[in-house]
Amino acid sequence: MNAKTKKITLITVVLLLCIIFTCCLAACGNTKDYGDYGYNFLQTFNDKFNARKAGTAQELQAAEYIFDELESFGYDAKMQPFNYTKNVTEKVTISTYDNNGILVTVKTTEVIENEDGTTTQNVTEEQKGVLISKQEIKTTKSVTTYSQNVIAVKEGKDTSKQIIVGAHYDSVLAGFGIDDNASGVAALLETAKYYSKNKAECNIVFVAFGAEETGCNGSAAYVKKMTEEEKANTKLMINIDSIAGGDYLYAYTGADEESQATLKGLLEFGKDLGLKTQEGKGSEFAYGETGNWSDHANFKKAGMKFIYFEGTNWDCDIDEGTTQYVDEEGKGYAIMHTSKDKLDWIEENFPGRAKKNVGNCVQCIINLTK
Ligand SMILES: [Zn+2]
Repeated sequence: MNAKTKKITLITVVLLLCIIFTCCLAACGNTKDYGDYGYNFLQTFNDKFNARKAGTAQELQAAEYIFDELESFGYDAKMQPFNYTKNVTEKVTISTYDNNGILVTVKTTEVIENEDGTTTQNVTEEQKGVLISKQEIKTTKSVTTYSQNVIAVKEGKDTSKQIIVGAHYDSVLAGFGIDDNASGVAALLETAKYYSKNKAECNIVFVAFGAEETGCNGSAAYVKKMTEEEKANTKLMINIDSIAGGDYLYAYTGADEESQATLKGLLEFGKDLGLKTQEGKGSEFAYGETGNWSDHANFKKAGMKFIYFEGTNWDCDIDEGTTQYVDEEGKGYAIMHTSKDKLDWIEENFPGRAKKNVGNCVQCIINLTK
């Protein structure tokens, strides 16, 4: 081999190595990228849409943001408005005090509602004096709340069948609703983004539900509007609720054989991602199952099959189903519906977890829908 041939051979080998290295990087980079979009979405919701109580202007603004994101991916997004009525009990207490011969009347109004107990009191303690009479009047009134679901459809190769991917975007007012459930919407949108450039076997319907925290009202309204034909053509409903903060990513399903087989295949796929299910050990639920406490319940009730993703920890038996993380002493805690439910808290206590859980969930959803 002369010097020139030697040089050419060396350059060829280096070039080939470069190509192989670039291909490897691209392949690895692909997997590593899952969760990137989702994590940015969590940051946006944490900073701009962090109080999304059902029926409020803030909930609507969050819906509009999700709508705009879907449109930016190329979807023809739709708002599905709905309303629901709820009975609210109002307790009025009239107390009369004798303050050195002067009668002082205090009227207290307390609205007994799930999360929004309000009390009005205009008289200070020293103004009151001695209590001489107290009267309590309870009245129940019907309150109507207006909310909306956001929907986008991706046509598949077979348009006669569909899979619904759903996650609620409303929140309670404790914390910023990042785990519960900006994280579910993050996974939903990242999957929708993926399918803007890919085609699945059947149609995929993406639905961001409003008003879940008030009793799964958004998904109830959605199911109510489905025709019998649509229900029969729905192969699967995938619900994503609170996946960012929990120790492990879990998938649950129904008791029937077909659902258990779907779960089995999913767990096989998700093994390397650390996907788990509830194993029925010392639990009130059988293997693979969990409670009817999120939007999947309305689809289940209407006879549709479902897979439900959640980030939690079933290895700790304190507060079954609500213990999301376990500390070094084995004590279990919840993140959802507490002041911990903020991106800063999750990131500080579990660095990298939010992005990883969202990214892993996206990969599982793509596997179920492809
Ligand atoms: Zn939730």
